[in-house]
Amino acid sequence: MIGTIEEAAAVEQLGRMMLGAMERGRALHLATARRLRREARAAAVWRGHTLGRFSPLLPSTGRGGYSEATCTACGAWLRIETAPAPNSIDVSGEAVAVSCTGRAS
Ligand SMILES: [Zn+2]
Repeated sequence: MIGTIEEAAAVEQLGRMMLGAMERGRALHLATARRLRREARAAAVWRGHTLGRFSPLLPSTGRGGYSEATCTACGAWLRIETAPAPNSIDVSGEAVAVSCTGRAS
């Protein structure tokens, strides 16, 4: 229970600060996702893939988000992670590791 006007104002200010930090964190992840999608798409195209649309940025098990796309010709996938775990990487998947076969395997 909040007693005074001052306490209520302090709680409200704390809430605004937390929301601001969340917004900044989210903006950072969105900017990272944009960069990683661009890099991952270039790597996949270099391997001959025809990459479909990326999924929206979804919350991952860690702090950031992930997004996935697949090759429309062979079905190879790739995934980007805005805040990969220490034992993980930010771009992964068949589409950046092997060349396009042009057909689903
Ligand atoms: Zn392919």
